[in-house]
Parts: sequence; C-alpha cells; structure tokens
Amino acid sequence: MKVILQNLTKVFPGRGRKAKEVVAVKDFNFEIPDGRLIGLLGPSGCGKSTALNLLCGLLQPTEGKIFFGDDDVTQLAAEKRGVGMVFQNYALYPHLTVRQNILFPLENLKGADRPSKEEMNQRAQEAAKLVQIDELMDRRPAELSGGQQQRVAIARALVKMPRILLMDEPLSNLDARLRLQTREEIRRIQRETKITTIFVTHDQEEAMSISDLIVVMKEGVVQQIGKPQDVYDDPVNLFVAKFLGTPPINVFYGNVRAGRLYIGEEAVLDVQGVPDQEVYAAIRPEGFELKADGRLTCGLNRVEVMGRDISVVSAHACAESDSIRSIISAKNQVDASAGSVSFDIRPDKIFLFRKDNEERIRVSAG
Ligand code: ADP
Ligand code: MG
Repeated sequence: MKVILQNLTKVFPGRGRKAKEVVAVKDFNFEIPDGRLIGLLGPSGCGKSTALNLLCGLLQPTEGKIFFGDDDVTQLAAEKRGVGMVFQNYALYPHLTVRQNILFPLENLKGADRPSKEEMNQRAQEAAKLVQIDELMDRRPAELSGGQQQRVAIARALVKMPRILLMDEPLSNLDARLRLQTREEIRRIQRETKITTIFVTHDQEEAMSISDLIVVMKEGVVQQIGKPQDVYDDPVNLFVAKFLGTPPINVFYGNVRAGRLYIGEEAVLDVQGVPDQEVYAAIRPEGFELKADGRLTCGLNRVEVMGRDISVVSAHACAESDSIRSIISAKNQVDASAGSVSFDIRPDKIFLFRKDNEERIRVSAG
C-alpha cells in the first residue's frame, strides 16, 4: 500500500501560561512507495513518534493530509485504518499466553469483521510461524527472552493483516546481539509480507542497514530522503553528514580562497568555482589517504588495529573535535611513534558546507 503524507504538521500547544508551543512535525511531504521498508531517523525529540502516531491515527494533525493508496484516512479513526503497531516496550498482556496475546486483536473485532474461530487460530499460527515463535505458543511473556517477546508483539501486529506496519524503536529494549539479530528478522519478515513498513529509530546504523529508503529528521523538519547509500554519499547539509556514519565524519573549519580549500595554511583541495568564504569541510573517515608529502598534515595521536583496517587517530588545530578518525587499509604501515601524519583527501569523500546555514556547497568535478 502506497502512503502519501501531504504537508503533514503537528503543533502541540504549550502547557502553562508562558509555555511555547512545540512544532513536533512540520510540513512533512512524502510519497512512500508500496511494499518498502522506510527508516525514519533522527535524534530524540525530532518528531519521529509524533509522525508515526499521526499515521496510525492516535494523533490528529494540525494541518495536512494522509492517504493510504487513494483513501484519505486523515479523519479515519485509528482502529479503522488497518495499521499494525509495534512499540519499544512490547506491551504484551502478562497473564495471557503467547497464542492469546497474538489472538487478542482478532478477538476484539466485532460483527462482520470478526473471523471464525478456526480462521483466527490459523492466522495466529501463521503469524507466529513467520516470526519463528510457533513453538512457544503456550508460554507466558515472563517465560520469554526480550527478543522473543518482541517477536510476539510483531506477530500480534501482523495477525490483523495490516495495510501498513509501523514500528517505533522496536529494538531499543534488546541487548546488542539480539538487536542485530532481530533487525535482520524484521527485514526478512518485511520482505516476505511486502507490507509497507515504517521503522523509527535514532540509531543511524540500524536504519541504514535495513531500510530501502531513509528519512532524516531534525526538529520536526525532514532534512533528506533517499536510499541509505545515496544519503551517506551525498548529504544535503552538515546535520545529515554528521548524523550518518561510524566513526562519524570529521569536521574542519576551512577557508575557500581563489578556488582552493585551505585547512589552516595547507591547500587540501581544488574547488574551482566556489566563491571565497569560510566553510565547514567534512571528511569521511575513509576519505583520508596516507601519503608522505600529503596535503593535510595532522598531529598523530595513536594507531588502533581493527584487523582488516587500521584507525589512525590524529589531531588538527582546525578540527571541530579533539580527535580525527581515519580508516585506512591495514596494508599501510604507520609509524605510531611519529609526531605527525600526512594525508591526501579523496575528493568524493569531502563535503563543503556554508558557515552561515550549514547547507551543502556543491563543488563541480574536475
Ligand atoms: P521522537 O519520537 O523523535 O523522540 P517525539 O515525536 O516524541 O520525538 O516528540 C517531538 C517533540 O514534540 C518533542 O519536543 C516532544 O517534547 C514534543 N511532544 C511530543 N508529544 C507531545 C505532547 N503530547 N504534548 C506536548 N509536546 C509533545
Ligand atoms: Mg519517539
């Protein structure tokens, strides 16, 4: 099911007499293609949960519209939207078995919507099988691991055969190993069911690894929408560049003078056509190339061995952060006792941003 958000806006009134109102979601426009997994990504408080709650009907928008396919569902009650929801805290009923928990949304259906007992059981069994908990149907939630409980919650959302599936930080309560495993499971389940899914997380790596498209939000405003790799390779502003990638991008205070980018006194890149100005120059960790007479000279702090790669941790007076992290093939030899290290910069791995509004400055190739 295709989902269309049109100028979607949610303003919360301020509490108390002097409190300011909060624009939790501002003018969100997006046509979500059918059958895809969308990662809605941004720091805490940027409006992700609000956007999901608008989609499922728990909140009414201040402005704008929501369409599921051709249906305008903006005014439609939550229970009539055919949306499956999965939350961070699995919210299972502790006194019910796994089977009863999964059956619960079906038992609640009234009249013509209510399937026969037989069909309910069959659908519960299928949903349980899909998330691989069909062996655990008679247990109670307390007898399951966190990962298993979250699978029950996913099965419970799927049993209604929802038109869209919304997941709000579903992995946050799991330990690191289960988080990895369960995110792969979610990807698999989404591929098998082909249900249009919106997956909310503040974890960029999680969103990048399983999403067909990511939506990066900041303070209620969508910054960029695209395939994870495209957004990583071509961020529209400094916020997006900094939000994606581990280790994070390295930000320098630079200057453009006469078509060259200077970091400190060194000209590190030709940027013909860019007007003279102060800039942020941000370099991905993999954008540094070791070279004896390289253009950018940094103080060498230490070398960390990571197996396939090494991480060279260095410092520069013009860097925004205390340490610069570069990732370099372990084939390179770095003398850890040297006082400094020199790099050339890969042109496709350095981005320039305006000092005033942090928007990207495009540098034409060649
Ligand atoms: P996220 O899920 O990205 O962490 P939320 O959507 O929960 O962010 O919140 C976005 C903003 O809206 C925050 O500033 C939050 O404090 C505010 N907010 C959320 N819900 C309410 C509410 N019911 N009343 C007032 N403000 C709210
Ligand atoms: Mg939230």
